Amino acid sequence: MTKQKPLLGISQCLTDCIVRYDGQSEFQPVLVHELQKYFELLTVCPEVECGMGVPRPPIELVEFNQSIRVMGRDNKQLDVTDSLNNFSNTKMALLANLSGYIFKSRSPSCGLGSTVIFNSMGECVRLSNGIFADKFVATYPMLPVIEDTELENIKTLDKFIGKVKNYFKNVLQD
Ligand code: SF4
Repeated sequence: MTKQKPLLGISQCLTDCIVRYDGQSEFQPVLVHELQKYFELLTVCPEVECGMGVPRPPIELVEFNQSIRVMGRDNKQLDVTDSLNNFSNTKMALLANLSGYIFKSRSPSCGLGSTVIFNSMGECVRLSNGIFADKFVATYPMLPVIEDTELENIKTLDKFIGKVKNYFKNVLQD
């Protein structure tokens, strides 16, 4: 009988899927190969799944009166805040069987503490989470989560793999 592997969420552009706004991927073959030894991967691209397509106009997070909007980087008339928020809210219920998540750094959707928040003058005011990642960590605060850039360190990768296995064993299979 084959043993069930934990399910690990991962930003889809880190796999070989062409989902980035510019029609590229951020494929990390070594990382993906290593992860597939231990986990089933569930890939998610919030921007594609909320209907923005590939390629699509680049977006960024802009703060207006303490509220964050998702606006076009080049087209200042573009506002996809509602689409991305609605998708994120709906998707959360479908992710309850995950044991961890790897987020693509610096993305307005997927960044985990590395996403630039701009003010209306186009100035960087701080770093924060992307829209989807922020909803995810608020919904699943106990789940192991990390950005791809941190996993370049082999010790950090091993530690993260251990945390995901433990979550699966002690929480999901309990
Ligand atoms: S960072 Fe997130 S939204 Fe952007 S291409 Fe990757 S998976 Fe899609």
